[in-house]
Amino acid sequence: LSFFVTILGSSGAVPAYGRYPSAQLINLHNEYMLVDCGEGTQMQLARYDLPLMRINHIFISHLHGDHYLGLPGLLHTMHLHHREHELHLYSPQGLGDILTVQFFYSRTALNFPVIMHTLQTEERTIILDHKHFTVETIPLRHKIPCCGFLFREKDKPRRINTEKIPPGLPYHKLVALKNGEDILDEAGQIWLKNEDYTLPPRKSCMYAYCSDTAYHEALVEQLKGVDVLYHEATFTQEDEGKANETMHSTAMQAAEIARKAGARLLLIGHFSARYRKLQVLLEEAQKIFANTRIAEEGSTHSVAEL
Ligand SMILES: [Zn+2]
Repeated sequence: LSFFVTILGSSGAVPAYGRYPSAQLINLHNEYMLVDCGEGTQMQLARYDLPLMRINHIFISHLHGDHYLGLPGLLHTMHLHHREHELHLYSPQGLGDILTVQFFYSRTALNFPVIMHTLQTEERTIILDHKHFTVETIPLRHKIPCCGFLFREKDKPRRINTEKIPPGLPYHKLVALKNGEDILDEAGQIWLKNEDYTLPPRKSCMYAYCSDTAYHEALVEQLKGVDVLYHEATFTQEDEGKANETMHSTAMQAAEIARKAGARLLLIGHFSARYRKLQVLLEEAQKIFANTRIAEEGSTHSVAEL
């Protein structure tokens, strides 16, 4: 079952050195979801040959332009490509008004329903409850209401041990085994004891997206055991004052959160345009949390352990 994150943009505030503003595509159990939608997101989707028309959920962390200005263009393209099925948008208060004005003056009536979900950003809330996973908000500390998003797989069924299963066992009995039941014979006695014919379920995994935020230690509790953590790292340690002033984080602070949460992998992004090269940010983070990677445009990261 798929659980991948593809980076579409890693730049903070303004595009710089070929880096695009924030956007990521999540492929989770074959649902495609977008997290933030900075300017140029639809071009990035095309560049990496990703299925724009299959996106059904778009999560916007906050209404600073570098996190949503790609949205009007993306919606317009979906419209021109004759999208008909509904699209869910999640955002703090205001996005609906912005889009309404946009489409009012262009006299565009989108030919697909847009369902707006307004987020309150102060408390963790489950905002999407899918058959196989949930998405919940992560309250962040920024200059305007802002939240991250935690994608959490639900518990998975046990796995059939194909080497042990008697040949020709009917399908409904396989399903019962997967669901953890024993299989009884005609006399009502246990015939196939579940644990002898199944293997434990695969691990359920988590991906967290945290941008934009000042260092916020309260995050750790919610992020405990996260497999892959994306945390903004706008500044180097030398520019920590700037980070405090603008309510962003340094690479070391991002790494500190990853270490305390016990993440498996940390992705850092949302880099300030003052850094042409990102090596310093990577090295600073790796001093605290070794398994850190740059969230580089076009890179895809597995959230499930491979
Ligand atoms: Zn921001």
